[in-house]
Amino acid sequence: MTDDIRFDKSFDLAPGQPEEVVPGVRRVLADNGGPFTFKGTVSYIVGRGKVAIVDPGPDDPAHIKALLDAVRGETVTHIFVTHTHRDHSPATPAIKAATGATVYAEGPHRAARPLHAGEAPRMEASNDLDFRPDVALADGEVASGEGFALEGVATPGHTANHMAFALKGTDILFSGDHVMGWSTTIVAPPDGAMTDYMASLDKLARRSEQVYLPGHGGAVHEATRFVAGLTLHRKAREASILHRLGKGETDIATIVRAVYIGLDPRLTKAAGFSVLAHMEDLVARGVVATDGAPAISGVFRLA
Ligand SMILES: [Zn+2]
Repeated sequence: MTDDIRFDKSFDLAPGQPEEVVPGVRRVLADNGGPFTFKGTVSYIVGRGKVAIVDPGPDDPAHIKALLDAVRGETVTHIFVTHTHRDHSPATPAIKAATGATVYAEGPHRAARPLHAGEAPRMEASNDLDFRPDVALADGEVASGEGFALEGVATPGHTANHMAFALKGTDILFSGDHVMGWSTTIVAPPDGAMTDYMASLDKLARRSEQVYLPGHGGAVHEATRFVAGLTLHRKAREASILHRLGKGETDIATIVRAVYIGLDPRLTKAAGFSVLAHMEDLVARGVVATDGAPAISGVFRLA
């Protein structure tokens, strides 16, 4: 399934040690590695003297201190947040309190669609429901500092409020969790939506930036090509799901076992929600049928 895309798992950055990743952009790794976060969340510092921080990261005192140490003697004027997962936004209040910076993001956390009857908000524990930006950026809106300007690029799919940021005048885009070099992105309803995610990939494919700085792992180069690979990867997965349905399999657990060969057992549940995300998209397109709303325990068939 992954022969259509080459992931890069080489990423050597010590937590808390700032490093210049491209001229004018530094990164600081949080020590929150895991199956969903790879080596940990990467926070970025843009500019020199008067700077922006992209994704302050988890509410971890050591990471907050490392970020503030990295900008000692400088002024943080802007904080940009790609989305409201607990590994990206909860350090924002502490960094704002320490620096007086203005917080920019697409908006507060919200699900991609209303919850179905009896459906639990699955990702509740991963969501930062307290987050509120000072300034809600619209798609295409630019926030400028001294020596830098970032354009908000609305990229829903991983979350409804996911926003990438293009560093104007450069080839760089902060891609958050929407495009990462080490892994595919979790797209799990009701917080995520496959239809939105695919449209957001198409949107990035039409942009010019070729160096992506993601929320986890190292920089992605030749980004347009990489994004095309991600799109192909999802289309191949969709084809596999349709193939299994054609063989008479009807439930998500069975399809996950057939489609995700060699999956890290810790990711089985996430894979189930990823298949559900495909089912939602396929049902919306009239390709797949189910009784009622698509559900993780639902029965599916080709329409
Ligand atoms: Zn996330």
